[in-house]
Amino acid sequence: MDFNDTPEEETFRAQAHAWLDANAERLQPGERAAGLESRADPDAIKKAQAWQAKKADAGWACITWPKEYGGRGATAIQNVIWNQEEAKYKTPPNIFGIGQGMLGPTIMVHGSDEQKQRYLNPMLRGAEIWCQLFSEPAAGSDLAGLRTTAVRDGDEWTLNGQKIWTTGAQYCKWGMIVTRTDATAEKHKGITYFIVDMQSPGIEIRPIKQINGMSSFNEVFFSDVRVADRNRVGAVNDGWRGALTTLMNERHSIGGGAGGPDFGNLLQIARRIEWNGRPAIEDAGVRQHLARFYIRLKGLQYTTYRTQTALSRGQTPGPESSIGKLVGAPLRQEMSAFAIDLQGAAGAIADRDAALEEGAWQAAYLGSPGLRLAGGTDEILRNIIAERVLGLPPEIRADKGMAFKDIPTGNKS
Ligand SMILES: Cc1cc2nc3c(=O)[nH]c(=O)nc-3n(C[C@H](O)[C@H](O)[C@H](O)COP(=O)(O)OP(=O)(O)OC[C@H]3O[C@@H](n4cnc5c(N)ncnc54)[C@H](O)[C@@H]3O)c2cc1C
Repeated sequence: MDFNDTPEEETFRAQAHAWLDANAERLQPGERAAGLESRADPDAIKKAQAWQAKKADAGWACITWPKEYGGRGATAIQNVIWNQEEAKYKTPPNIFGIGQGMLGPTIMVHGSDEQKQRYLNPMLRGAEIWCQLFSEPAAGSDLAGLRTTAVRDGDEWTLNGQKIWTTGAQYCKWGMIVTRTDATAEKHKGITYFIVDMQSPGIEIRPIKQINGMSSFNEVFFSDVRVADRNRVGAVNDGWRGALTTLMNERHSIGGGAGGPDFGNLLQIARRIEWNGRPAIEDAGVRQHLARFYIRLKGLQYTTYRTQTALSRGQTPGPESSIGKLVGAPLRQEMSAFAIDLQGAAGAIADRDAALEEGAWQAAYLGSPGLRLAGGTDEILRNIIAERVLGLPPEIRADKGMAFKDIPTGNKS
């Protein structure tokens, strides 16, 4: 493991730092970066778009994208460095990740030249925001069980069905959708992938109210929605390949994404809050909890360093890159639950009037179950590690070799 930048990485970091310093305000010590709550700001989207356009003008948007699509062809480790530096500044939350991190790279691999020409630049600049229309009420972990249909009609297709958990659908211009186009084929083989205009007639978007009071994702209903054949991504019935590209990029984008929550802040709270007239940190049980969190966080951090060292040396990260979210997301949930417990009855106030940090720990707690589901649930990540890292026998797939229409289901439609 190597903790230091190489001379080239040092130069790159200095360039990133210099541009950020000239164009953004640095976070002060102890100041928090904009969290989820800042998305409630009615101008949040405009602010995020303005920041993205500014980065694009200076060549700091989507830096890992190839130069021909407006990126700078940066390496994975340069991307890590850029993200580390940008995180030190007050910037709007990134609402472009699904498009830029997952869907754009899919268009680059499977899209037509016309699609690359038309869609990638406005996506990079943040001028057009994208959503991912994959999950359905009965197709999440088992995505290939999807039932939304697309039926060809000349140069167009007609889409019918329902998607769910679609992040950002309510403000997106474009979506990428996987549909069933041949129910007589095996479930992975009769799927076709499209780009769909989210303002098309027949699309109804219903925001889902979440436990944290926000509506970051939606149900999306398709009733006879027309999509031009030129918006098909890849060949008819070969959409699973494109979907796998999207999912692979999702795993890379989210990866260790749950990250580690701020241990320093938790320590401060434990020092500041009084229990029976004494700082909570003087309680042996509190100290034991803190020590356990610290050990797990350090393990996570050094594991991340191992991945970064491999990237820096131009190597492919090993199995350690599979565990970031699996360890980080539950840790975030436990630490935020503990921060709330420390606050006693005041911990029950979950808004800006909360006693500490404007309710940031409460917000982290309420958001943490979602982190354990999105981009692969804990159980699915364990299956992947078991099968692909440890080489254990694969799960039995009872529907293997069966036409999709013959797979037994409780859903009669
Ligand atoms: C914050 C958030 C944002 C999201 N954004 C989007 C989005 O933008 N677009 C989109 O399409 N989707 C999105 N999703 C949906 C997400 O992809 C799904 O929630 C996820 O794939 C799990 O699917 P599911 O919810 O249908 O659960 P299911 O797949 O029904 O799983 C239910 C439970 O069964 C377990 N399980 C399922 N299969 C197995 C198995 N083989 N072995 C062991 N256990 C199993 C799961 O781990 C889980 O605990 C988002 C979800 C969240 C939480």
